Amino acid sequence: MAVMKFGGTSVGTSRAMQQAISIVAREEKKQTPLVVLSACSGITNKLVHIADAAGRSALDEAMALAAEVRAFHLNLVDDLISGLELKAELTVTIEQLANRLELLIKGVDIVGELTERSKDMFCSFGELLSTTVFAAAMKERGHNVAWIDVRTVMITDDNFGFARPLDEVCEANVRQIIKPLLDAGTTVITQGYIGATKDGRTTTLGRGGSDFSAALLGAWLNDNAIEIWTDVDGVMTCDPRLVPDARSIRVMTFSEAAELAYLGAKVLHPDTIAPAVQKNIPVYVLNSICPDAKGTIITNDPERLSGMSYEGLVKSIAVKKSQCIINIRSNRMMGRHGFMNQLFDVFARYSVSVEMISTSEVSVSLTVDDKSFSNELIQDLKQFGDVEIEHNVATISVVGDNLRMSRGVAGRIFSALKDVNLRMISQGASEINVGFVVEEPEVATAVNNLHKEFFCTPENHCIFEMPAK
Ligand code: ADP
Ligand code: ASP
Ligand code: MG
Repeated sequence: MAVMKFGGTSVGTSRAMQQAISIVAREEKKQTPLVVLSACSGITNKLVHIADAAGRSALDEAMALAAEVRAFHLNLVDDLISGLELKAELTVTIEQLANRLELLIKGVDIVGELTERSKDMFCSFGELLSTTVFAAAMKERGHNVAWIDVRTVMITDDNFGFARPLDEVCEANVRQIIKPLLDAGTTVITQGYIGATKDGRTTTLGRGGSDFSAALLGAWLNDNAIEIWTDVDGVMTCDPRLVPDARSIRVMTFSEAAELAYLGAKVLHPDTIAPAVQKNIPVYVLNSICPDAKGTIITNDPERLSGMSYEGLVKSIAVKKSQCIINIRSNRMMGRHGFMNQLFDVFARYSVSVEMISTSEVSVSLTVDDKSFSNELIQDLKQFGDVEIEHNVATISVVGDNLRMSRGVAGRIFSALKDVNLRMISQGASEINVGFVVEEPEVATAVNNLHKEFFCTPENHCIFEMPAK
């Protein structure tokens, strides 16, 4: 069995949905798939906006956006469904979901407060709507499909906005609810990104979490493949939006893919790899616009890797924008034990995740996501010494398993970046990445120069390909 996850752009228009349906149909000829969908592109952002407006009691704004969400999905129904009876039935379901969204807006407006819990409720409508339309469109085209509300399967803790599954409960649910359908040859269509607590409150796994949902479901089902269908030719040597020359990477190890995702490559949610590693299931990243392009295989299987050995150093370059540097300078650090412990305790208290760190005897520099920055945090840090902040920076990381033991990489990186102002540099002793921080306006120059240095030389043979489109 295989799990096939389609991202926002892959189901974002009626044409894209039709294309996704034909990709599923092709798979059905080989094996019965579990299909996991994101919300249509732009819808989750809109729902976040609606939640925010409702929380500010900007009722008109929230209702106008909800009307757009309703109209968008009704249009999809119009384009995709021709049978009058099914169209009427589906219109009622879409109307019901849209009415519930409006009720939620009014509820939050009356209470005058937006909680993380109600925010997750808002965000869940995107996937519920996209899967409802998709399942009906498949049904009309003669496929044997079942729509499943994943909240009956994906049971999570109550960490709203960043919920994590209760593995054993979920695995049992998958065995009970999804597996019998697949075994009977019924294609299952369900939502990525969302789940529910044991007592039925809707949760989400965090933005971009549908990849993670697919990997979890694939692992619980012991599938033979986890397919992530997106809008690019697999994992590429850099974000093609930043580097027009980016190539598609044929094969990567689990560790390289995980590292790349954590370091900012949006093509995969960072938590996608762990469930796949656990059950040793290959992850395929594929292009729904060009389904015949090879895409990327992520695996540790020596057989699959054979013939694709890579002698080069860097496999890919990741960028994380909207970061900020916090620099703490203190003479008290010198020779004193426990200093770092106390310092990081402050970040833990504010639930702020520290991304990159670089230290000397008298100062610590670190980066955090700009969104998690707060003046209260900075006030607390001032007890340790002078604190300087630099906003609008980005971390850039070069990633590759071969970096670990290679000489001369740093030299090549720095010569490629000789015209860029490096604000911070970090490399661990056994790391497979080298990271540094630049000002945001310099990102494009930095990554394009690095890309030229590492990917436009003869050393990158068979594992890189020009994208199909
Ligand atoms: P989906 O909606 O299918 O989940 P995303 O927008 O989350 O798609 O991720 C795909 C996007 O990730 C691409 O359009 C691309 O701009 C971006 N991206 C960033 N880094 C990379 C990379 N190394 N390889 C491929 N795509 C990347
Ligand atoms: N729809 C969700 C988001 O936009 C989840 C996903 O697409 O993976 O974040
Ligand atoms: Mg995504």
